Amino acid sequence: MVGLKVTPRGLWEMTAPPAPSLAALAQTVQADVAIVGAGVTGLSAALELARHGANVVVVEAADVGSGAIGRSSGLVNAGMWISPEQVRSILGRDHGDRLLHALGEAPRDLFALIDRHGIACDHERAGTLQCAVGASGLKAMEARARSWAEIGADVELLDAEQTQVRVGSACYRGALLDRRTGTVQPLAYVRGLASAAVAAGALIFVNSPAIGFEPVSNRWRVRTTAGEVIADRVLIATDTYAMSDDFDLRSEFVNLPYFNIATRPLTQGELTSVLPSRQAITDTRKVLSSYRLDRDGRLIIGSVGALSGAGRSTHVAWANRAINRLFPHLGQVSLDFGWYGAIGMTDIHLPAIHEPAPGILSAGGYNGRGIAAGTLFGRSIAEYFLGRRHARELPVPISLVRRARHKYVRGIFYEWGARVVHVADRF
Ligand SMILES: Cc1cc2nc3c(=O)[nH]c(=O)nc-3n(C[C@H](O)[C@H](O)[C@H](O)COP(=O)(O)OP(=O)(O)OC[C@H]3O[C@@H](n4cnc5c(N)ncnc54)[C@H](O)[C@@H]3O)c2cc1C
Repeated sequence: MVGLKVTPRGLWEMTAPPAPSLAALAQTVQADVAIVGAGVTGLSAALELARHGANVVVVEAADVGSGAIGRSSGLVNAGMWISPEQVRSILGRDHGDRLLHALGEAPRDLFALIDRHGIACDHERAGTLQCAVGASGLKAMEARARSWAEIGADVELLDAEQTQVRVGSACYRGALLDRRTGTVQPLAYVRGLASAAVAAGALIFVNSPAIGFEPVSNRWRVRTTAGEVIADRVLIATDTYAMSDDFDLRSEFVNLPYFNIATRPLTQGELTSVLPSRQAITDTRKVLSSYRLDRDGRLIIGSVGALSGAGRSTHVAWANRAINRLFPHLGQVSLDFGWYGAIGMTDIHLPAIHEPAPGILSAGGYNGRGIAAGTLFGRSIAEYFLGRRHARELPVPISLVRRARHKYVRGIFYEWGARVVHVADRF
């Protein structure tokens, strides 16, 4: 473990361009739309609103990307963790298909946005692989391939041999290749969104937590610690990193801890046999793991757990063994950077849009798939506020907050379950 540096945003802080220089809010400002939270959802909305001439003000409790996005793994996915069939059975055929369709297009839209605004975030559109572990994993991927094919998604089921060629390891029975997807440097992406929003005319204030919402003659006052925004509409985009619990929005999430560890940069020789197609992978295990490369050829391994307290050594030891199992030819490879964060899980494993009061919307709950989905939800809500999209054209119907069952116990269970699995050496 010597040499492993664990910090809130790990490797991403080392390789992201600096955030734009932003001040705290210390006065009263007027806006068409106030946005709470400068993560991917809030900034995607801010950019879209500002691009269309709206007067938009973002207040952020800490700094840009300090929530889940800056700590994430950077996989740009085209769906949810649950299968398309499950999405349909929860939302019904019409709403389910609308969400699947929107999520399927979300990576393409995200990469187009990156190109349009020249966001430097090491994006790669190489696709991703969901790798099958054992016979049950393969069966699940076969079913998923069929259900994506029904809606014409660009996915392909690979056999064990084809998977081995792309992963550089013989550990998997097959994989679902999703060509719509890819990776970004997530902190660079969200900082780029902030710069683009500012360039389009948005005002972003950092170190300005929202601490209260009050109606003022058909408008809303969003109070921060040292200022206030008076706005016609409000978007609350704080997801599970919400620092206050106005409107009870936080009750919806169970926190799933997830960590990432980055190795030293691999040599050109090593890279010919470690994810040689540069596709990020996840697997079908219950305690899943993920692997991707960064721009410098570092291998980034992720799994459930927090790199803190007694769990840290367990998860780090597991990561060493997992790399060794998957890529034995690497030998003992040094681990340089570690980071971890909380993924906001909802009971139905789907994101939600709420209207906690007239004129206020909230969006979140992407269940670990928020980079493309958060970009999509933020943009969609901006279009709704601009009158360019009807409520029924939002990616999900506006719903009531659904309190998570046994929220805190389940959060603890996730960490302890991951420790048990990682100690038991299950890959
Ligand atoms: C370890 C990890 C790995 C992940 N990997 C992936 C992945 O590979 N692919 C993927 O698609 N998703 C991934 N996710 C999920 C993804 O990061 C989230 O779904 C996404 O960041 C949610 O975006 P958001 O903008 O809604 O929330 P956040 O990114 O959490 O942003 C919310 C912001 O609101 C601010 N805030 C909170 N309270 C207040 C307040 N009172 N006033 C003002 N501001 C406030 C916070 O400081 C924060 O900046 C991962 C998450 C984690 C933790």
